[in-house]
Amino acid sequence: MTGEIKRYWQNYIAGERIDGGDGGCIVVENPATLEPLAEIAEATETDIDAAVAAARGCVETRVLIDMKPAKRLQMMLRVAAEIRAVAEEMVTTLCLDSGKRIVDARGEVETAARYFEYYGGLADKIEGRSIPLGGGYVNYTLATPYGVSGQIVPWNFPLGIAARSLSVALATGNASVVKSPELAPLANCLLAEACERAGVPAGAANILCGYGTRAGAALAEHPDVNQLVFTGSIKTGQSIMLAAAERVVPTVMELGGKGAGVVYPDAVIERVIASARNGIFRHGGQVCSAMSRLLVHESRHDEIVNGIVEMAQKLPIGPGIDDSDITPLMSANQLDRVENYCLGAVQQGAEAVIGGRRLDDAVGHFMPPTIFTGIKPDMTIAQEEVFGPVLSVLRFREPEEAMSIANGTEYGLTAGVFTTDLDRALWSAERLHAGQIFINEWHAGGIETPFGGMKKSGFGREKGQEALLNYVQTKNVAIRIGLE
Ligand code: NAD
Repeated sequence: MTGEIKRYWQNYIAGERIDGGDGGCIVVENPATLEPLAEIAEATETDIDAAVAAARGCVETRVLIDMKPAKRLQMMLRVAAEIRAVAEEMVTTLCLDSGKRIVDARGEVETAARYFEYYGGLADKIEGRSIPLGGGYVNYTLATPYGVSGQIVPWNFPLGIAARSLSVALATGNASVVKSPELAPLANCLLAEACERAGVPAGAANILCGYGTRAGAALAEHPDVNQLVFTGSIKTGQSIMLAAAERVVPTVMELGGKGAGVVYPDAVIERVIASARNGIFRHGGQVCSAMSRLLVHESRHDEIVNGIVEMAQKLPIGPGIDDSDITPLMSANQLDRVENYCLGAVQQGAEAVIGGRRLDDAVGHFMPPTIFTGIKPDMTIAQEEVFGPVLSVLRFREPEEAMSIANGTEYGLTAGVFTTDLDRALWSAERLHAGQIFINEWHAGGIETPFGGMKKSGFGREKGQEALLNYVQTKNVAIRIGLE
């Protein structure tokens, strides 16, 4: 695969590609080589204002709201087709600006297309209810769009997450302003072009990139935004919720995680190893739903650890564009953060069976696969989100103890169970406090399955039919009928 992409990218507002309000640019770096890859126009408060005004115009003219649902469906299928038409360009772009493997980038592009198909297919099935009130009355409900939806997207799956929110917003008749992540924004510019070619009305899908504390904050605080969807860290989510509370605007919060996989004595080891590979080492572990903790029954501890170590040691480390397995972390900050967590774990008594330090001789932000044993549940590394290729292995004796450790963090995004005993699997699934439970395969599921957090991992659901509920509000219409 060649690594050539465009050197200059613009924001997409009201159907036009434009430069940033201050004329500034953000330099996007390749995290594998640290070379500047491209520049993107920096969106400022002025651009956010213009994008929100364009979205508001789309709401006021009712172009999307009044569109026949069957037409909206067709429009969304065209977006999916336009994404597929430029899939390889999107893949290259994602590999270069976010560092991920070709196979993962292909998966992300395909997922983005599927979101538009899935929610396109639901666009003509968003129905209200008729509620009987007895003679003389007719009562019905309408599922009405909020209006302007502001969506703030993180860098780990920039295209997938932008498509995830934008597709539901379009299906439900909302006009969107999407704030792309400053570290990996480029594939979203291609998404904007796909929307344009597919005939999405000007103003219905505005896609901009600016810094979080400037453009992101301006979007969160904007008086004309009616609903906010945020995917990112707890800290940023809290500041967005405060801004939303000021204006009494609903939010969806897709925040971090500290997923625990519980390995019972009868687990199939191959399933656990494959899940570790996909669950914590994919995309450098920079995945909110990662399996960052493995809780292993003491009778299987050494065998499971050895199996995962053997697998991890074989994973090639290098740029995603070369299809290496262990790809770079996103930034110098991210690498410092992950390494500091590892150094702290050793200080607190954990043992790094492999890894634990950055790759000194690498140019990019490379952290090798790291596996810690001797972890106690209250250690920092067992409590906080590391967002790196770092697996913490803990031991347990009794199932109740495993549940208590798994639930013993402030997060509740994902959890998993490895067992061949159906009763044990379902008993655990009932007790684990997480929005998504995986049994015998980490990351089982798809865009059809509702996804979101409990506790500080957030609230609201993206993916699945449940996501529609976050983008519409119920309006009740009560009618007095009769001639008397
Ligand atoms: P982040 O919170 O730093 O940034 C996320 C987005 O918010 C970026 O677009 C950023 O520019 C913007 N932003 C930053 N400060 C802002 C502010 N003050 N106001 C408004 N916007 C602001 O998170 P990140 O480092 O990009 O992503 C990593 C985090 O995201 C991890 O915690 C991860 O678990 C979480 N995440 C969650 C999900 C999910 O679906 N639950 C998916 C991916 C990532």
